[in-house]
Amino acid sequence: MSKIIVAIDGPAGSGKSSVSKQLARAFKFAYLDTGAAYRALAWATLNGLSFEKIATDDFEKEFDYSISTDPDDFWVRVGAHDVTEAIRTALISETVSSVAALANVREFMKRLTKRIVDECAFEGAVVEGRDITTVVYPDAQSRLLLTASEAIRLDRRSKELSADSAKAVVNQVSKRDENDSKIVDFMNAAPGVTLVDSSDLDFDQTVSVMIAQINADLKASAQ
Ligand code: C5P
Repeated sequence: MSKIIVAIDGPAGSGKSSVSKQLARAFKFAYLDTGAAYRALAWATLNGLSFEKIATDDFEKEFDYSISTDPDDFWVRVGAHDVTEAIRTALISETVSSVAALANVREFMKRLTKRIVDECAFEGAVVEGRDITTVVYPDAQSRLLLTASEAIRLDRRSKELSADSAKAVVNQVSKRDENDSKIVDFMNAAPGVTLVDSSDLDFDQTVSVMIAQINADLKASAQ
């Protein structure tokens, strides 16, 4: 049976991951962080899998990826390695855009995302990333773009990554958004995608606004 899909895109620091997790809990759906797979592949290139190899199609057999879709028990693995923490370092954040720029990698990620969603034990999934509303699930029952002003996003991100200096974080996030937006447009809502600007909303308010929109979308799609 095909799943109910809530597709959420947005830039770094928009609050996408924590909001999406909370939405998954509210709807009792799976939570899928698609950025984790790009980060895990970047991690693999720094741990033995050559970049040249991933630019060709035959890397797939050598990238043994798994991820939890339970919003309350989140983990990411490559082979036997738990990389949940390792994929959040500044080095990975700096490397990931070049991995995500490869067309065959994006095709692979699309198939991987759909397979994980199809195989999950939930009746629906909140899937978050950069191209979910436009490329991976353009036909999702609910599609939202979560954003916030650049100043707010940078501030949120630097609080999140307290080990890095605020300046380094600002540079890193701006650079990554700039690189990523050359590949997919996640700053503007595509037709049929609802834009949620969280600049003036706190976490609970953002979640409430999104729950109301998703409920309306699910009702409309059931008619
Ligand atoms: O969401 P997160 O910031 O962890 O994503 C890490 C990176 O993965 C992004 O900077 C982007 O390069 C890539 N990505 C992507 N498409 C997605 C999700 C993530 O290109 N759907």
